Formats: sequence, structure tokens, C-alpha cells
Amino acid sequence: TFHVGFEPGHPLVRVRLGAGVLAEIGSEMAALGLSRALVLTTPEQAAQGEAILAQLGPRAHARFSRAAMHTPIEITEAAIAAAHGADCIVAIGGGSTIGLGKAIALRTDLPQIVLPTTYAGSEATPILGQTANGIKETLRSPKVQPEVILYDPELVATLPANLTVTSGLNAMAHAVEALYARDANPLSDQLALSGIRAFRDGLPQVVADPGNLDAREQTLFGSWLCGTVLGSVGMALHHKLCHTLGGSFDLPHAETHAILLPHSAAYNAEAAERELAPAAELFGGSIGGGLHDFAASLNAPLALRDIGLAESDLDRAADLAVKNPYWNPRPIERDAIRALLQSAWQGTRP
Ligand code: NAD
Repeated sequence: TFHVGFEPGHPLVRVRLGAGVLAEIGSEMAALGLSRALVLTTPEQAAQGEAILAQLGPRAHARFSRAAMHTPIEITEAAIAAAHGADCIVAIGGGSTIGLGKAIALRTDLPQIVLPTTYAGSEATPILGQTANGIKETLRSPKVQPEVILYDPELVATLPANLTVTSGLNAMAHAVEALYARDANPLSDQLALSGIRAFRDGLPQVVADPGNLDAREQTLFGSWLCGTVLGSVGMALHHKLCHTLGGSFDLPHAETHAILLPHSAAYNAEAAERELAPAAELFGGSIGGGLHDFAASLNAPLALRDIGLAESDLDRAADLAVKNPYWNPRPIERDAIRALLQSAWQGTRP
């Protein structure tokens, strides 16, 4: 059990990592004086929510299983209605389910106990992305930071192979961008490098043997490291590109991160070679080519054309990506971004 300080004035986050912590939801609730949990899941994970209701017995208030990508406000409102009479949230799932818990907490201040089942890392950040009228906004508030995180490797052991790989690369992308963040510091550098190393070593093992709980624990620890660094320093080109492609072309979250990472890293390596060098070393010396080879070795999707983006969309994607200026180690130039997108669309090794 760890207690991690977050932001000044914010209570400590309690984190437990290890096989079997799933069974501790009730004792964590009791320790906080909580007795009526609203359990959140996606429709696909409703059975896992049902199992938690059974496990919690009288401490269960209800289950709400309509969590969805991008945290639509209508679903948050329906969940808040279902939360009437509950005194806490138990979210079991990936970034979408955890996002719903955060959106409820923002409006109700209900404490959150979260059980991550992907590597996306949302549980470790005070950041919420939510969608109203088709527009996604991202906000930062200590109110949305979950109070208790239970990382149980058995929960990621059920992740299908493709989501295991793309979600792991999604987590690594937080750490790669943290290395060249404008507000990077020696601690964030160490978190980022340890996170990248945990996935470089652990992902091939969990792909070869999905039920390897030691390797699942190593990768979940990587997810904690990468999520923590995502919440600590600013992100740049890679996250903005994924946000644009996800929001405007409805591309799937983890796959988009997985495909773009080698290309955004190669783009920024021209300006941040020194910052990226320790990560490049982990992948044979070249960050872009090395990450591409790593992804290919795990059978990750490598080309945007394979996840539903049309080549005729690339011009508009490039226009959108350069529309709102933001800080990046290398200047954001339209022609260079258009070339990056072409490579990512084709799946060319950068
Ligand atoms: P997700 O939560 O959308 O899950 C994808 C699908 O996989 C769902 O159907 C889900 O039910 C299923 N699934 C999840 N875990 C499973 C398991 N162990 N076994 C079987 N099926 C499982 O995917 P995600 O990539 O974790 O989350 C993406 C969302 O999270 C995006 O909206 C993204 O913006 C957000 N996010 C937010 C933050 C933040 O800090 N706010 C960080 C990372 C991601």
C-alpha cells in the first residue's frame, strides 16, 4: 500500500498493487467510512460489475453499466441520477469508465475507488475529458482525482491481445512526451523512463503469455508510472494529434496512440534528441524506428489507413492539427505535420 501526495491541498491518494487487491474493495470502503457503492462499468464489462455487487453484498448500492468513450454529458447525468443514495463510486474498467467516475465526482464530490482494467492511466491523473454537444473539453481539478486505486493484475489479464498492446503503447506515449515536456524535472524523467522500461520488458511477455501475472503486474506498474507522469507534466504534439484524430475522425483511442507514437517521437527527436536519448537507448538507438519495430514485433496496428482514416482526410487533419498553437519542442509546421500524417497513414517506418 502506498500513499501518494498529489497537489497542494489535496488529500493523499491511496494505491495498492498486487494480485488479489480486487477482494479489498469492501475493506477500503470501510476504512473510509463508506457503505453504499455505485458500481460503474461499460456495457461490455457489466458482468464484472455484477460480480462486484455480489462481492460487496450490503455495501452495494447499484450498478450503472453505460460508461462510454469520451464521457458524454447525457450519460454522466443518467449516472448521477443512479448515484442518488450512494456514498461512493467504484469504477471498474478502462479510461472510459474511470472518466465517468471522475465526471460524477466533479459534480457530486463522491469519493472514488477505481480498479483499472486497461493501461491508459486515467486513474492516476486529476484530468477529465468529457463531451457536450459533440465538443470534447479537457479540464484539470483535484476533485476528479480518484481517492483509492486498486491495481490488480488479474483484471488486465482478461484484456484481449490487441487492446493489451495498443493500451500499453498508449501508456508509453504519456512517458515519451513527458521526457521532452517543457516542465519536465528529474523526478518526472525517472517516472517516465521507468514506465517505458516496464512496458518494453513486460509487454512482450504478456503478449506471449496473457495470464503471466508477474508480467501483468509489471505492466500495471508501468501504467501507474506513465499515468502519474501524464498528470504531472504537460503533453505536446503526440497527444494533440491523437485528440484531433480521435475527436474529428472518430478513430479509436488506444489504436490511434499506438500508431502515431513512433511518428510523433521521430518528429520531435529532431529538436529533443538529448531528452529522448535515454528512451532511444532502450529501443536500439533510434526512438522513432525503435518504437516502430517494437510495435511491429507485438503485432500492433501500424497504419492509420487500417483503422478507418481515409487518405483524403489527411489534408483536413493537418489543418486541424496546426490550427490552435501550443508548445512543442519542435515547431509545428503544416507541411512537416502533413508528411508525418502521410507516414502514419501508410505505416512507414520513421
Ligand atoms: P476504454 O475504457 O474505452 O475500453 C475499451 C473497451 O475495452 C471497452 O469496451 C471496455 O469495456 C473494454 N475493456 C476494458 N478493459 C477490459 C478488460 N480487462 N477485458 C476485456 N475488455 C476490457 O479504453 P481505454 O483506452 O482504457 O480508455 C480510453 C478513454 O480514456 C479515452 O476517452 C481517453 O480520452 C480516456 N483517458 C483519459 C485519461 C485522463 O487522464 N483523463 C488518460 C487516459 C485515457
